[in-house]
Amino acid sequence: MLSQEAIAVKEALERLQLENPSLLNNHSDAEKVETIQYHMSAIMQSMGLDLTDESLGKSPHRIAKMYIEEIFSGLNYENFPKITTVPAQSGQLDMIKIDNILMNSTCEHHFVPIQGQVKVAYIPNEKLLGLSKLNRIVHFFCRRPQLQERLTQQIKTAIQVISNSKDVAVHIQATHHCVHSRGVRDINSMTTTSSYGGAFQENFDLKREFLGN
Ligand SMILES: [Zn+2]
Repeated sequence: MLSQEAIAVKEALERLQLENPSLLNNHSDAEKVETIQYHMSAIMQSMGLDLTDESLGKSPHRIAKMYIEEIFSGLNYENFPKITTVPAQSGQLDMIKIDNILMNSTCEHHFVPIQGQVKVAYIPNEKLLGLSKLNRIVHFFCRRPQLQERLTQQIKTAIQVISNSKDVAVHIQATHHCVHSRGVRDINSMTTTSSYGGAFQENFDLKREFLGN
């Protein structure tokens, strides 16, 4: 059973073509874990690993559970955070900003970590969101195989839908382990993406206030 918020966010992302490319799959979490475990065993065995070894034996199951219950749990809208809002009073209409939200996501091209920090802000329209809810929305979309650009837009859109305010800004600075540890091995490179809605798009001072610390 999906919450109203989850349905509204999902529909908005589909309309904007910002959803992760997905195919319908009605398998339960337990069935998904079982299938992934089976295939992960095959992957490990084809690399020549001995799954009768005590240290490796449970890895396929461990990885499958981690995929479904943790690092890719954001593919399932049943895990969308419960959102509480309170009506905004007049005089509460300044920017609300949260810095340094820790992000752990996964690059969809290589299935290795993307780690960084997220900054989000919104200007309340009629509703105030509980502060930790913004962090939870960020974490939900991080728990998918991702592209940093799409992740940034998904977070912006979700906050717009839930806050009923167009005035939302999202900024992500992250390290991609696929750049860091393989390929060009560029240890210090960071990727920055941002997405601005409403007043943040038009008002340079507001954008500067958002980007300042
Ligand atoms: Zn990658």
